[in-house]
Amino acid sequence: MRKKIVAGNWKCNTNLQEGVQLAKKVNELVAKEGADDVVVVLGTPFTHLTKVVETVDTDVIGVSAQNCAAEPKGAFTGEISAEMVKSTGAEYVILGHSERREYFGETSETLNKKLALALENNLTPIYCCGEPLEIREAGTQNDFVKKQMEETVFQLSANDFKKLVIAYEPIWAIGTGKTATSEQAQEIHAFIRSIIAEKFGNEVAQEISILYGGSCKPSNAKELFTNEDVDGGLIGGASLKAEDFLGIINGF
Ligand code: PGA
Repeated sequence: MRKKIVAGNWKCNTNLQEGVQLAKKVNELVAKEGADDVVVVLGTPFTHLTKVVETVDTDVIGVSAQNCAAEPKGAFTGEISAEMVKSTGAEYVILGHSERREYFGETSETLNKKLALALENNLTPIYCCGEPLEIREAGTQNDFVKKQMEETVFQLSANDFKKLVIAYEPIWAIGTGKTATSEQAQEIHAFIRSIIAEKFGNEVAQEISILYGGSCKPSNAKELFTNEDVDGGLIGGASLKAEDFLGIINGF
């Protein structure tokens, strides 16, 4: 059985106090009303990690960073290493988010370094892939996503690859209110699983959770999550309200 995962990505939102309040509320709601079989993850800013780890029941809720440095340590002013993230008690790290690729020039090369360091430090990478609008309109999204994966996560050993969570995010649906239709999501998730099977075998492909990200909300979560190959979501905007986030968790 694949894990069902709902991961929030708070992005550059909430100050520390607001973040702790949000984590507290999510923790309470999940304990009271959350589905038992869903792994819940909170992707918080670096500054919040330690406090959020202290605030939530980490047996139930995992805590994630949204990035880590491509170097293990040293003279890299302003960077936060995978080891530092791990030392806060966080267990996950989001890598390759489209906003990092687009605004911070993250390439496959830097991502490979980050992936290796995250894995070395026993963090679970939530690896993001997905196409921009012009690629979707040209109908070449499968090739685009395949290339992203070939240049990065397909370079890993099967043993390391198995430790990942994959998040497919159509960039045109992120923060735009536009959601991929349930059929579009299923189609590309099934494609991603098929190329994983080609590369690492069917057993690995069946074990890997593939999350959908892009304007997922309580009103469309159920429809998206009923798809065979959609194993949960990476949630931006709607993860900033505890009730909405819970609504998505209970969308399974
Ligand atoms: P969104 O963001 O839910 O606000 O569209 C998704 C993401 O970027 O993780």
